Amino acid sequence: MSGFTQKCLRVFSLSCCWSFVLAFTSLAGEQLQAAENAELVVYSARKEHLIKPLFDQYTEETGVKIRYITDKAGPLLTRLKSEGVSTQADMLLTVDVGNLWHAANQGVLREISSSTLSENVPANLRDPENCWFGLTVRARTLVYSTERIKPEQLLSYEDLADKKWKDRLCLRTSKKVYNQSLVASLLANLGKTQTEQVISGWVANLATSPFSNDTKAMQAVVSGLCDVTIVNTYYFGRLQKQDANLPLALFWPNQQDHGVHINISGGGVTRHAKHPEQAQKLLEWLSDEKAQGLLASLNQEYPVNKKVPASAEVLAWGEFKADPVALATVAENQVEAVKLIDRMGYR
Ligand code: FE
Repeated sequence: MSGFTQKCLRVFSLSCCWSFVLAFTSLAGEQLQAAENAELVVYSARKEHLIKPLFDQYTEETGVKIRYITDKAGPLLTRLKSEGVSTQADMLLTVDVGNLWHAANQGVLREISSSTLSENVPANLRDPENCWFGLTVRARTLVYSTERIKPEQLLSYEDLADKKWKDRLCLRTSKKVYNQSLVASLLANLGKTQTEQVISGWVANLATSPFSNDTKAMQAVVSGLCDVTIVNTYYFGRLQKQDANLPLALFWPNQQDHGVHINISGGGVTRHAKHPEQAQKLLEWLSDEKAQGLLASLNQEYPVNKKVPASAEVLAWGEFKADPVALATVAENQVEAVKLIDRMGYR
């Protein structure tokens, strides 16, 4: 990270002289007081029911109260930026590496040095510059009609561009960051020319206009409008919970090559956090074994911490090879991915 392009606040440069500063200012007492009475404020793009049980548990264990504001990722980032130094937010939680990377690049996160986070979060699922850290993993995979398709007919994301899928493919809109990240991962694995061919093939094979969400795309497969779609695993899990007999199944693509595109929900400590040390402790706690099982299972996701198994219902989907590409690389391809998507006419 070079000086003028640094995307998130480096805190070690401050902490190296922290004790010196404390010794010579009246801030020392206030800082101590603040830590004791800390009420952490979290801006969360994750919905309340996915975070409250964890925060309640944390408060019970530590006495630290947590106040949270939930909204969509975009408005939360805008709010953080406009509040600047006066923000009350200590932590940002959001979904998709695209959003985390964007937040870091907009300068609203700070660099954290934490051996706990380095140990608990695999390197490909966190920022190399330690601005953001994955907390849960989701796979963006294929879902197909068990009435009209045999799994042997499926192969890969790339194969869905083949003419044999003409008028049989449903997709969610490309406006959603999930698909932008998927295309960005294809760019990382296949390069520009082949990715263009894949996306234009998908567009040519669409049975109908793209849907506003993953659930609608799967319902279109159930209704017979199309035979296969691409969704995040937990949306499939939700539908499966509602009706275990739905004629849908997951398929893990690209098992012979680059693997399934995985993404994260995650978070970081805000640049202008009033309780940065406390916020870091919460982030570390969320990555630890104790919290990971609950955090992941609330939304039928995979724990980011390898020591923690996924829930039984998630494990029932079977093992798969995940794309090992660093999500930071995927995020860096986002801008190019969006341009490519536009050029190929994927709406
Ligand atoms: Fe989602």
